[in-house]
Formats: sequence, structure tokens, C-alpha cells
Amino acid sequence: MQPIVRNSDERKPVRKKPLISIVVPMWNEAESLPFLYKSLTTVTKRLAKREGYRFEYIFVDDGSTDNSVEIITALARQSSEVRIIEFSRNFGKEIAVTAGIHAAQGDAVIMLDADLQHPVELLPEFLQKWRAGAEVVVGVRRHYGRQSVWKRFTSWLFYKSLAKISHTVIVPGATDYRLIDKQVVAAFNQLSEHNRMTRGLIDWLGFRREYIYFTPEPRHYGQAGYSFNKLLGLAVNSFVSLSLFPLRLAGYLGIFITATAGLGGLFIVVEDFMLDDPLNLKFSGPAMLAVLNMFWIGIVLSALGLVALYIASIHTEVINRPLYITRARPRPTTAKPLKK
Ligand code: UDP
Ligand code: MG
Repeated sequence: MQPIVRNSDERKPVRKKPLISIVVPMWNEAESLPFLYKSLTTVTKRLAKREGYRFEYIFVDDGSTDNSVEIITALARQSSEVRIIEFSRNFGKEIAVTAGIHAAQGDAVIMLDADLQHPVELLPEFLQKWRAGAEVVVGVRRHYGRQSVWKRFTSWLFYKSLAKISHTVIVPGATDYRLIDKQVVAAFNQLSEHNRMTRGLIDWLGFRREYIYFTPEPRHYGQAGYSFNKLLGLAVNSFVSLSLFPLRLAGYLGIFITATAGLGGLFIVVEDFMLDDPLNLKFSGPAMLAVLNMFWIGIVLSALGLVALYIASIHTEVINRPLYITRARPRPTTAKPLKK
């Protein structure tokens, strides 16, 4: 029989120490990894000692061509807390993070970038907010640091338009630096779509959220893996996965054109043919033809919009999101010390 573990004061059974999974996607980050691991363990050791957390590190190698994998394998040999998932090729960060979340066993999962742009000193704050009842804790970029005006503008445009057309709460500057509770992980693991953007999906899931503001460090080593094209692809992906507006656009345009051309045509018929041109506008044949043509184009676009509605409904069925997400267990809303 299992002995009941008891506290030193022999009264209350010891609460199991919460396990925190730290998920790090990496793609050619060999230069940053030793620093990252060192600063991570400095923070986590203190947390383990003071507050009784346990940690596991899941490094997901997204097809690195440098020796990132060797570095992590060496770390894994030294510490049983370190695990590595190795992709056969580069699948993209979103998939890498997803794989890490799938593998995580913790009571909470924290995901952060390998390039030291997400300050690990904030981990205690993330955990504190989690213990206080937040189910999702989101790191939000406060300043854009040394980003170019162009990147700032595109990112601003992206968040503004996405917030306008989707039904998901999206905070501008929200990053992938996040903590999610075990039950958010369970819900996340139900999502099966292939084209995915992790933070968009987490936003879609809802749950009680808190925000932590931080200023990102400039990248110390290597290059940001996201070129403009990759970012554009990601942006298109999030629009498509969070909103059906782009699909309906053709339809809206069609209705607008049909209506304008219809009114124009009506005006010509009444003014020229029925009232015999009292305004003396003298519509030429080609002008009338142009209006008629526009009217037909409008009809065709509207029909496309109609087809799009059906495609939208197929899209919803195919990505097969769960109909609803429930909260599995109530979470305390005030932090209690784990260890006395
Ligand atoms: N990353 C990845 N696969 C990729 C691109 C990036 O796993 O195809 C990782 C990268 O190693 C880093 C994180 O994702 O840990 C963020 O990447 P990056 O710094 O290039 O992006 P940004 O900071 O511009 O968002
Ligand atoms: Mg980065």
C-alpha cells in the first residue's frame, strides 16, 4: 500500500507539487540555446525552491540544420527534465509549438521563443497570475523596440483589421509568450486543423485571461526566421481561420456593383427613354452598354459570393472545431501559498 505522504507538522497531506511544462520551438538557434537554458534554469531553480514547482522542458526542433539538436541532446543527458522532439524537416513554428503542447504533461504550459526575445525573468509573474486564477496568461509587447516603421505599421494593420472582422478578442501586440492551464491544453488538443496559428487558436478558445506587458529584447543571435512573405502567409492564415469575411467580400462587392449599376440603368431608362431626355444628357450607346455590363458583372460577383457562403459552411465543417469549450473544474481566484 502507498504510504500517505505527510507534512512535517504531520497534519495535512502534502499537496502534489505542480508541474510546469516549458515549450520552446527552435529553428537554428544553436547560439542562443546555452544562454536560454542557463537563464531558464536560474529562474526555475529559484521558483522550485521558493514555491515548490517542478519543471519539464520540451524543446521542439523544427528541422534545424545547425547543431541545436546536439546541444539539447547533451542537456537531456544531464537532466531528466529536458525532452526533445525532433522534426524531420522545417514545419514552421506554429506546428512546432503545437507538437510541444501535445507532448506537455504539466499542470500548466508556458511557451516561449528560443531567441531570448521573451524575457524569462517574467516566469514568476506568469505563474503568479495562473495561481491567482487566470487560465491563459498572455505576454503583450509594450514597445516595438527597434522594429522598423514598416513592421510596426503592418502589425498594427493586421491586428486592427483582424479585430474588426473576427469574433475573437485580440489584443494588439499579444505574443506567443503565453501560459496556458492544463484544461486549456486539453481543449487545444481537440483542435485538428492543419493551417493554424497557435495564438489565434488560443484566443478562440477563450477562458479567463490575464496580460503581462513586456518590452522585447532585440534578437542577439541569428536572424528572425520570419521573412515578410512568411509573415504575410501567417496573417492570411489567421484571417482565414478566424473569419469568413474574406470569402464574403466578393458577394458584398457584387451587391454593391449590382445596386449602383441598377440605379444607373434605371436612371437612364427613365430619363432618356420614358421622359425623352429633359436634362439633355445625351447618353451615348457605349455608355448605356457600359452600365448594362456593370450590372451583369455585379450579378456574377453576387453569385460568386453566394457560392462563397457555401464554401464558408464547408470550411467550418471541415476544420471541425469543437462546438463549445467547457471549463472542466473551477479554479480558485485568489492565490494561496503552495508551501508554508
Ligand atoms: N521558429 C521555428 N520554426 C520556424 C521559424 C521560427 O521553430 O520555421 C522558432 C525560432 O527558433 C524561435 C521562434 O520560433 O524560437 C520565433 O522565431 P523568430 O524569432 O524567427 O520570430 P519573431 O521573433 O520574428 O516572431
Ligand atoms: Mg524572435
